[in-house]
Parts: sequence; C-alpha cells; structure tokens
Amino acid sequence: MDKIKMTTPIVEMDGDEMTRILWQLIKDELLCPFVELNTEYYDLGLEHRNETDDQVTKDAALATKKYKVAVKCATITPNAARVEEYNLKEMWKSPNGTIRAILDGTVFRAPIQVKGITPCVRNWEKPITIARHAYGDVYKAVEMKVPGAGKVELVYTAADGSQQSVTVHEFDGPGVVQGMHNINESIESFARSCFTYALDTRQSLWFATKDTISKKYDHTFKDIFQEIFDAEYKEKFDEYGIEYFYTLIDDAVARVMKSKGGFIWACKNYDGDVMSDMLSSAFGSLAMMTSVLVSPEGFFEYEAAHGTVQRHYYKHLKGEETSTNPVATIFAWTGALRKRGEMDQNPDLMVFANKLERATLQTIENGTMTKDLALITELKDVTVLNTQDFIKAIRTTLESL
Ligand code: NAP
Ligand code: MG
Repeated sequence: MDKIKMTTPIVEMDGDEMTRILWQLIKDELLCPFVELNTEYYDLGLEHRNETDDQVTKDAALATKKYKVAVKCATITPNAARVEEYNLKEMWKSPNGTIRAILDGTVFRAPIQVKGITPCVRNWEKPITIARHAYGDVYKAVEMKVPGAGKVELVYTAADGSQQSVTVHEFDGPGVVQGMHNINESIESFARSCFTYALDTRQSLWFATKDTISKKYDHTFKDIFQEIFDAEYKEKFDEYGIEYFYTLIDDAVARVMKSKGGFIWACKNYDGDVMSDMLSSAFGSLAMMTSVLVSPEGFFEYEAAHGTVQRHYYKHLKGEETSTNPVATIFAWTGALRKRGEMDQNPDLMVFANKLERATLQTIENGTMTKDLALITELKDVTVLNTQDFIKAIRTTLESL
C-alpha cells in the first residue's frame, strides 16, 4: 500500500522523559508505516534547549507561525532540582509559556471519551472543552497587607499626568487589599481564539463572568466578547448552526452540571484554572485529555495535557516495565495531521487521522488498555499491557480497520 503523502510540513517539537519514549514509539509503530511524515523537527528536549540557550524553543514557535500547525511532546519545565539534574546553564522558562508568548492565543482542553470509562457526572454524554484565558487577573495581581486604620485608593495617572482615583476602602483596622488588571487586547485575542475554535470544531461557545457584581471589570469581558461576536463571527455561527451563549458564572456552573456536554466553555483565568481540574478529574484521567493552543490568527499547536510522566521514566531507565498511557499524545498527532489535511485539502491524511483515533479507542473498548485506565474502567476481563505492547495492540487494530 502506498504511504499517504504530505505537501506541507507540520512543526514537530520533541520533548522529555517518558513522553519522549512514547513519541518515538508512536512515530515508529503508528505513523511512519502509513504516512510519509513531513515534519520540520525541533528538539525541545531539555538538553538541547540548554545547548541552544533555549533558542530552539523560539525557533519552533516561529516555525509554527510559518506552517500554522504544530505538534508538541510534553517537556520539562525546569526547577531547582532539574537545574542540578541536567547541569543547566540557567533555569530556562517553561517552553509552553515561551511558545504562548510568541503565538498568543488560548489553550483548549478536551477529554477523550471512551466506552467503559464513564464520567462521574452521568449526564455528560459528550466532552466539555475548557478554554482558559491565560493572561492577567489574580495571576498578575499586586497585593498588600493593610497594617491598620487608613484609606486605600486606586490611582490612575495618564500619560499627560492627569489622574483619576477611586477609594477601595476606609480601613478601621488591619486587613488585606489586592489590585489586578487585564488588557483589552488580550481579552480580544482570547475572544477571537474562542470563536475560531468553536467554528473549527462546530461546537457552541459558552462564556460566563460575574458582570452583575463586577460592573466594569467583568463587564468589559462580556462587552468585548459580544462586540467581536456580532461584528466578526455571528454570520458563520448561524450558518454552522452553533450558538454563542453568555451567562453569569454561577448560572454556568449549574447548567454545566445538568448538561449533556458537547460545547466549549470559555473561562476567565482563575475560573479556568479551577474548572479545568474539576472537569479533567470528573471525566476520568489526565492521560485522556488533549490540549491545543489556538492563536487568534488561526495557528494550531497540539499536545497532551499531561507532563513528562517522570516517575514512569525513572522506572523505564532502571529497566522496569511501564504502563504509560499514550492516548493523549496519539491524539495530539492526529489533531495536527487532521488540521494539516484540512488546510492542504488532503482528505487521505484526514481519513488516516480519524482512523487512528478510532483504532485507539476501539482497542480500549475491546478491553485492552494501560494500567491507569484499568483502574477506572467498568469493563470486565481487562488486559493490561505495557507501554510498547499497548501501542502494538493499537497498530493491530488499525491494520484491521
Ligand atoms: P505528569 O507527567 O503529568 O504525571 C503525574 C502523574 O500522573 C504520573 O506520575 C502518573 O501517575 C500520572 N500520569 C500522567 N500522565 C500519564 C500517562 N500518560 N499515563 C499514565 N499515567 C500518567 O506530571 P509530573 O510527573 O508531576 O511532571 C513531570 C514533568 O512534566 C515536570 O518536569 C513538569 O515540568 C512537566 N510538565 C510538562 C507539561 C507540558 O509540557 N505540557 C505539563 C505538565 C507538566 P502515577 O505515577 O500514579 O502512575
Ligand atoms: Mg491549576
């Protein structure tokens, strides 16, 4: 059989530890035998980031602007222990942070659902995708302990020196105070990324804030979303039969619990932090969660939501068997290949991506899986395989489809 050809490369960002092992296995067993893989390769493994003074991360992000589609392996974000372990010149920044700073955009996280692993919330029939705004609010706040009685004010000084101020509180005794901000430009690109992704995946978009209480701050988020939606996206949404739905955050939480799923939930930074952990644990496992960075210009970078699975890697190094779940990493590849196929009008590539996803899910539904899933499935007579054998089992299913 002829291998599927790719006219344009995708940007391939290799990574660290156990996921680097998975990366190679997936390419060898599930991709290269079927596709003439056309990638521009960047090694974001920590050693190579260190050798290049992290230039390779920036180059990979810039290449993503050029080719529009990237797939990324999980990478180590160095801390003090890693600086020692890898003898690093510096405590290099988080690659995801660097890439996001260059591409701008929003990260969308969606659970991969499979029969036999039921979400805690029984009525969730379809995945719920979380879009978390990644700039500002409490994550860029300044704060102060107020030692005793006194007045706290917010003061804005314009470029021409003129001022506006507002009293935060007249304190009678000790307390605390916090000042936070956001930027219209960042909210606008968050909104565009959300609308773009909703159209891309043909799902309705929900957005919620607390604008009844926060009449200027949260209300600005609400207004910017509505203005951009009306001006740039409404027609397409109507054409695709999807909707943009705004409500209050507490109402949204109640509705999400009662919903059937199958929509995107855009969240402000803090709400997204909290709700994404709730959703991923309710849906089952971090190893069954995909993640894609969508820039407002429509660049896509696909990855798994989990890290490099360090504990498994150390076992692997000692020659012990591991049962690491490759599903999210496989779906990062299929997401990127399908997007490449769509952009290049290469239906064979899209069909292949869908088929590989089906083979992966079918393998699990037939009762063959990794240990993490075996622990949470309600299927009986499950076969637990090690990392390599599970990937081989997916290949067998793939070849039978
Ligand atoms: P992790 O890699 O997400 O793994 C934490 C634990 O979750 C694992 O020990 C394992 O539990 C379970 N797990 C995660 N993925 C799994 C999979 N595919 N299959 C089976 N079990 C899985 O987090 P970490 O070990 O705390 O972090 C390791 C490194 O990843 C850190 O250096 C961090 O900087 C980096 N990281 C990178 C990214 C990214 O690149 N996007 C994201 C997060 C973290 P058991 O040990 O109980 O089996
Ligand atoms: Mg968190």
